[in-house]
Amino acid sequence: YGDFNQKIDYVFKIVLIGDSAVGKSQLLARFARNEFSLDSKATIGVEFQTKTLIVDQKTVKAQIWDTAGQERYRAVTSAYYRGAVGAMLVYDMTKRQSFDHMARWLEELRGHADKNIVIMLIGNKCDLGSLRAVPTEDAQEFAERENLCFMETSALESTNVESAFMTVLTQIYRIIS
Ligand code: GDP
Ligand code: MG
Repeated sequence: YGDFNQKIDYVFKIVLIGDSAVGKSQLLARFARNEFSLDSKATIGVEFQTKTLIVDQKTVKAQIWDTAGQERYRAVTSAYYRGAVGAMLVYDMTKRQSFDHMARWLEELRGHADKNIVIMLIGNKCDLGSLRAVPTEDAQEFAERENLCFMETSALESTNVESAFMTVLTQIYRIIS
């Protein structure tokens, strides 16, 4: 099971960023292990998880990094961003502030990461539609202006999680190949 004896063509580092409690760790748990927890504890220590998949007939190992509960402005270290070829910029669509902070996170990211990095803006918790505080159009507009991909997801209901990661991985592959 897993990566044993598998020939890996590429390893792509992807970083998750965004405010605390927007659902970064649960998006990762859903994507990497198809798990979800409603009372996830704050992430302790820098952690990454891997998932190996096929992208355009190549075996790609996605190495996805999750923040260590250091989700304050400028607290994420440059080591976290180093070597990243993709980033998921996550906000909680029921928390306007988490969306308003996206510009700062993006600035941080662009200050540290490679200039060809593929960035996906993610509005998570779309299962809580009745509590929506960020209109889709606002996020779309921001994404277009900043040249980012954009999707609304639910780690709880699995909506668009696979699709968001696959889109980023496919774009990275097309850039480097
Ligand atoms: P992080 O601090 O960004 O890593 O956020 P977590 O992944 O720890 O999630 C924070 C809280 O939001 C937890 O209680 C999760 O169960 C919850 N959560 C995460 N994703 C979703 C989602 O898609 N829908 C709902 N309803 N809750 C979510
Ligand atoms: Mg976390």
